[in-house]
Amino acid sequence: MLWTRAVSPPPAPALTPEDRAVAAYVGLAIGDALGATVEFLTPREIQHQHGVHQDISGGGWLRLKPGQVTDDTTMSLALGEAILAAGRVDARAAADAFDAWMRGKPVDIGNTVRRNLITYRKTGNPEAPPSEHDAGNGAAMRVLPVALATFGQEPDVVAAACRAQGHVTHHNLLSDAACDTLVAMVHDFFAGHGLDTARHHADALVARHPVFAWQGKRRDNPSGFVVETLQAVFQALFSTHSFETCLVDIVNRGGDADTTGAIAGMLAGACYGPAAIPARWRKAVDAEIRQRVELQALALMKQG
Ligand code: MG
Ligand code: MG
Repeated sequence: MLWTRAVSPPPAPALTPEDRAVAAYVGLAIGDALGATVEFLTPREIQHQHGVHQDISGGGWLRLKPGQVTDDTTMSLALGEAILAAGRVDARAAADAFDAWMRGKPVDIGNTVRRNLITYRKTGNPEAPPSEHDAGNGAAMRVLPVALATFGQEPDVVAAACRAQGHVTHHNLLSDAACDTLVAMVHDFFAGHGLDTARHHADALVARHPVFAWQGKRRDNPSGFVVETLQAVFQALFSTHSFETCLVDIVNRGGDADTTGAIAGMLAGACYGPAAIPARWRKAVDAEIRQRVELQALALMKQG
């Protein structure tokens, strides 16, 4: 019948994996810059200060310039450069790159990252000691370069690469599971699959580690605990149908908003592609950073 309207979202346009890779990396930087303004605020505080927070305006507890990004993006860039220089994902190259990054006095740095990089300086072992307490989101927030460099490779190669980069600072089962899941989702988006396929990965994660169950109570104020991070990100990703609405949803939950913004921006960028990224955000994010992530995305895809 002619008047019957389709209720499902339109099929994804034909984009190349490279288009989606660039959008994922730009999305990561945008989510970081957008979320940093409201990091550690509650949804109520955000509403009081910003109404709906939806512009890249800097400020926040880090007193950022508008468009400035934080460790989520700059650690990803450091990792990506190490992968390109080594020709593969190498734990020692990643550890050295993170150490050099830390010496550069970054605007912010996670406690687990700092502690285990200082341990690396002492021991020279690029694999942090296993710890059930090191379940922060610091390895997950910077996993995109691994996804880019391993697209199309065998699952054991992908898993080994995830471990090599993650264990430099986060040697933890929940962090590993989160990184694996994010990389699998990004790879499926690059291959042109949509949210339904991505959802299978989120469900599989919950089946393996029930603590990640995300289809329940709304996760506001997500902490740096990787479980809360992914719960909030999945709720935002799977309850919206555009890059913009996904990012506005996630950052207005407050908490570790730069990191949830970065991870959601990565996933939504890969899912919806570059044309879905609002021009006002693309223009607002630091121009040099945007250029670096675009170039690095393509270089890593070529290497993979
Ligand atoms: Mg940050
Ligand atoms: Mg953060």
